[in-house]
Amino acid sequence: MRTIIPAQAGLGQVQDKIDDLADNHKDNLWRVNKQIHGNPEPHYEEVQAHDNICGLLESLGYTVTPHAYGVSTAFQVDFGTGGGLVSYNAEYDALPCESDGYHHACGHNLIATSSIAAFLFTAGLIKDTGIQGRVRLLGTPAEESGGGKIDLIEAGAYRGVDASLMAHPSNDIESFDGISCPKTLAINSVKIKFHGKEAHAAASPWAGINALDAVVATYNNIAMLRQQLPLTERVHSIISNGGERPNIIPGLAEMELYARAATDAELETLCKRLEGCIHGGAQAAGCKVELTWDRAYKNLRNNETIARVFTDSMRAMGRTFQHKLEDNIGGSTDQGSVSLFKSVAAWLYLKICLLLGNVTHEIPGIHPMFVIPTPGGVTGPHTPGFAEAAGTYDSFLRALDVGKGLAIAGYQILADPQLRQQAWNEHANK
Ligand SMILES: [Zn+2]
Ligand SMILES: [Zn+2]
Repeated sequence: MRTIIPAQAGLGQVQDKIDDLADNHKDNLWRVNKQIHGNPEPHYEEVQAHDNICGLLESLGYTVTPHAYGVSTAFQVDFGTGGGLVSYNAEYDALPCESDGYHHACGHNLIATSSIAAFLFTAGLIKDTGIQGRVRLLGTPAEESGGGKIDLIEAGAYRGVDASLMAHPSNDIESFDGISCPKTLAINSVKIKFHGKEAHAAASPWAGINALDAVVATYNNIAMLRQQLPLTERVHSIISNGGERPNIIPGLAEMELYARAATDAELETLCKRLEGCIHGGAQAAGCKVELTWDRAYKNLRNNETIARVFTDSMRAMGRTFQHKLEDNIGGSTDQGSVSLFKSVAAWLYLKICLLLGNVTHEIPGIHPMFVIPTPGGVTGPHTPGFAEAAGTYDSFLRALDVGKGLAIAGYQILADPQLRQQAWNEHANK
């Protein structure tokens, strides 16, 4: 039987209604979750995921804008009128496998599922209560690389949005079911080409300019710099082209490098230091160098006003969510040092990829991490074990619960103009 709940519903009534909605949509959500997980697609090529999600929403009576904002695998669906606007992001891009093809090693199928669920539940609550307010589901491709949300920000997808919500799966976080305000790192990457001069490596090596030497010198310069970097900064690189054959002095050699830091400003400083290492390497080998920087992913700015509602709703469901990691660092004992170290390690570890960071510099937003059951030995996202774990029914049920928590937070933002204002005030003061 359809229950109608009043506009000023208490949290208990909202939770009951969401449980009903979750029961109604569970089969559809499990199907779309399996479709996405079973057909992993790379960034900007998430055609099946796009079509499957749009198809589901259309079958439920929603008007969907496919290929939204000029991005072929983005989409948008809106519901409701007036009031505030809450938006959920559905990610669905996959990662390349070591062996062949692609797999959902970051579990973005679960991000899609929890956000679709949150949209359907919030829309259901708007219908039932008749409140003024709008909810949006954005299909946001190309998170792992490509910066899909940067395209969407620039195209105006978040203009007029009061809050952007999504959640990301993770492996074990110190025995909690999740964390509402993870700390994350800003990241940028650079492709580096060193141009030297080829020569016969035995007959006339002195006639060559060795581009591989520039790579090796750069790599070593960075290795030395690393000792002087703060704990919050990370640099990692690969040699993507070290030459053609041993008997040819390499005239071209290439590297790819990622740099991460706690804030945008710190990242900028780090990137300048790295450029010093790179130019030093080039100069030592006598090479010319060409740098192609990517678009930076900013650090995540958690909106604690919104996150608090999410934390409370997850806890009300019996899920042990940490609000933020500092909750875990109390007092000053020698045991405290151990706890601090573990927490710092955990949040650095959590930061694998979070393009929502850029969104949260524009508008209030949250990006909680939620734990999915992983078999022993899975070291975290971006591994084959995590790809497998992201496809299980147990992980789907975690995502479904997170979808409920996001919907409760989203609904509260729409139903309570004061909460909305508080979230904006916090955003303005950051
Ligand atoms: Zn990832
Ligand atoms: Zn991810």
